[in-house]
Amino acid sequence: MTVVRKPTVHSAAHSAVRRHDTAARRAIAAAIARERRSFTAREVYNRLRVSRPVGLTTVYRTLALLLGDGSVREAGRRHGETLYATCELTGHHHHLICEQCGAVVGSDVCHCEALESDLSARHGFVLRASESNYYGLCAACAARGGAS
Ligand SMILES: [Zn+2]
Ligand SMILES: [Zn+2]
Ligand SMILES: [Zn+2]
Repeated sequence: MTVVRKPTVHSAAHSAVRRHDTAARRAIAAAIARERRSFTAREVYNRLRVSRPVGLTTVYRTLALLLGDGSVREAGRRHGETLYATCELTGHHHHLICEQCGAVVGSDVCHCEALESDLSARHGFVLRASESNYYGLCAACAARGGAS
């Protein structure tokens, strides 16, 4: 299906509203698909405001859906707002998140097995979720001397 339906803002019909919603979701998914930095819902909202206005609530709702199916991950917080990131890696991996420029790099560098056995040995703790984000500076930001 390649039919592109323009959302009808004038129509109050329920079906039109739902169609608008679907179009909005598609626009949001497209807007973040190529994003290699972490972003907030508000940033997505601002980016779409000119080309394809979408309500902030719809942005939040859509990001929640995308989180649910794993196509978007949480990537910490910035100024109290949840950061999201897209990632092409599947399977167990980690995210290197630059606190300065927001760059997100998927990495399969993993010491979870060692972590798991150490936690179990020392605390009797059974690790369930070991997917984790690492926060710091990306190579480029570190080369620029870190915090500005
Ligand atoms: Zn990832
Ligand atoms: Zn950086
Ligand atoms: Zn791991």
